[in-house]
Amino acid sequence: MTELFFPKTYSSLTSAQLIAKEKANMDTVRFEHCVRVSRTARKLAEQNQFDPDKAALAGFVHDYAKQMPEEAFRTAIVQEKMSSELLKWNRSIWHGTVGWFFVQRDLKINDAEILTAIRRHTTGDVEMTTLDKIVFLADYIEPGRDFEGVEQARQIGYADLNAGVGYELAHTLAFLIKKRAKVYPKTLAAYNVWAAQSSSSVKKEGKQ
Ligand code: GDP
Ligand code: FE
Ligand code: FE
Repeated sequence: MTELFFPKTYSSLTSAQLIAKEKANMDTVRFEHCVRVSRTARKLAEQNQFDPDKAALAGFVHDYAKQMPEEAFRTAIVQEKMSSELLKWNRSIWHGTVGWFFVQRDLKINDAEILTAIRRHTTGDVEMTTLDKIVFLADYIEPGRDFEGVEQARQIGYADLNAGVGYELAHTLAFLIKKRAKVYPKTLAAYNVWAAQSSSSVKKEGKQ
């Protein structure tokens, strides 16, 4: 196993300090997922002309807040004057939509591109940068994932990043609907942009 190291941290913390803080904020299972997402993000970046070290870092910290107490999220939403709509949701939505704030506060990462990728990593969004897409997809197809359709997601995603994002959104939406879970509005909006077939013959118009 290659040693984890981030040559540039976009933070006042060193790579080792950042890794230690991440490790202290979650259990081993979650930490190992973060390491695999980091490696997968690096691979996707190499294939999509994006800085592999930056993608690896964003992938590593994407779930930093996943196991933080619900109360911490509620407090951050109120104190940071985020949309009160967020209070209606739960940790599965908050760890991205609000979790970026803890990455900035605790890991001292001050790069907007990384923080945005964390913010969008669970739901996707109407606008998605290359890094957003890399982290979003890496989280879904990392080698530890084992669900029906994951092999197809890997094949599609490694061949075409946008198509991978579309596949993920379509399947996540179907999964949520099947279990009658509430759909976060941005998940649906993202599906409409990145996954829905265009009604005209002009396909995938406006995609990056
Ligand atoms: P993880 O943090 O590595 O487990 O993965 P994610 O951040 O992608 O997802 C966390 C959970 O949020 C998953 O169980 C998703 O199915 C769920 N999720 C994603 N979008 C939505 C949504 O619109 N509504 C709800 N209720 N859950 C969602
Ligand atoms: Fe997550
Ligand atoms: Fe994750």
